[in-house]
Amino acid sequence: MGKLINGKEFADTLCKKIATEVTKLKDKNIKPGLAVVRVGEDPASTVYVNMKAKKTEEVGMHSVTKILDEKTSQEELLNIVEKLNQDESINGILVQLPLPEQINEDSVINAINPDKDVDGFHAINTGRLWSSIDSLVPCTPLGCKMLLLNELKDLTGKKAIIVGRSNIVGKPMAALLLAESCTVTIGHSKTKDLENEVKKSDIVVAAVGVPEMVKGSWIKPGATVIDVGINRIEKDGKKKLVGDVNFDEAEKVAGAITPVPGGVGPMTIACLLHNTLIATCRKNNLEIPKFF
Ligand code: NDP
Repeated sequence: MGKLINGKEFADTLCKKIATEVTKLKDKNIKPGLAVVRVGEDPASTVYVNMKAKKTEEVGMHSVTKILDEKTSQEELLNIVEKLNQDESINGILVQLPLPEQINEDSVINAINPDKDVDGFHAINTGRLWSSIDSLVPCTPLGCKMLLLNELKDLTGKKAIIVGRSNIVGKPMAALLLAESCTVTIGHSKTKDLENEVKKSDIVVAAVGVPEMVKGSWIKPGATVIDVGINRIEKDGKKKLVGDVNFDEAEKVAGAITPVPGGVGPMTIACLLHNTLIATCRKNNLEIPKFF
């Protein structure tokens, strides 16, 4: 049986450390501020945005939530982003995706001041990440990297496969593992013999959005498996949350594995707060705290 990687516990510890740093900043009259913008009433986005606001307050940061009508125009949204760019009390800005179809996501993401881009999606931060220049790193891959480093300590020379090549998970994950000197393969829907590629890998990060797609028989014995997927399915008449890896099969083969829920999910919000703290420290020319 593979060891369970407890992302919830790791995220709680990280949030406590962040809260301690926020308290230290108070002595300098600095309070990190995070603004989250939601457009429309998408149920999943509503849950995520509420959770983000709650956690932001819990670690002692200033939290602003802006909820805009589904019909908000791109121009109106860009005006709000610009106001937040200018707002001295705000260190991090996150526009919750997906956005309604009348709004171009790239235009909005790239309108955020890169120094406040705590999601790390701005083209400047993407370029910095791939060039190994200090940047704000997308939260989910950053969380995966923290869990991997905590588990394996040194990733040098490991064969890693990331299944999925999205801009928000797959690609930044590949950049982070390359920077840790892994030999990185990126799998996607056009990859030939994906199963065999996965079988060769010491590290598997699954971010596909297909419930339980990665089978236990694909996993190399002893490999470390990080499951990013969050899929709501119905099984035996019951609603259930499952990942992109068949957990019951994979845990029998893997050396260590993240569960869904309780694995990568909680790390994403913790890393958002981590990024907001970093953005605040950079703006005030303060030393960046190291948590891992
Ligand atoms: P996207 O839909 O943007 O990307 C999915 C990727 O998976 C694409 O690159 C696609 O390939 C690839 N893919 C799809 N089907 C297959 C297949 N059958 N075989 C191989 N590759 C395939 O998804 P995201 O990256 O945004 O999210 C991935 C998963 O992670 C989702 O379940 C999502 O809910 C979850 N997620 C979880 C987060 C968390 O906090 N834990 C945060 C963000 C996402 P191609 O490019 O060729 O189409």
